[in-house]
Amino acid sequence: MVEETQRDDMLWYRCEECGLMFDDQRDAEQHEQNCDAEDPSYLQ
Ligand SMILES: [Zn+2]
Repeated sequence: MVEETQRDDMLWYRCEECGLMFDDQRDAEQHEQNCDAEDPSYLQ
């Protein structure tokens, strides 16, 4: 999930998987789809 965070009067979008912050929601969502912080073990 992408989490919205207010900081320094700006809205940031944080990847809940790895904590990376983005200033653009689309960037955050795109990152999340490719985020490798998720545990892939359930796919095995
Ligand atoms: Zn991430």
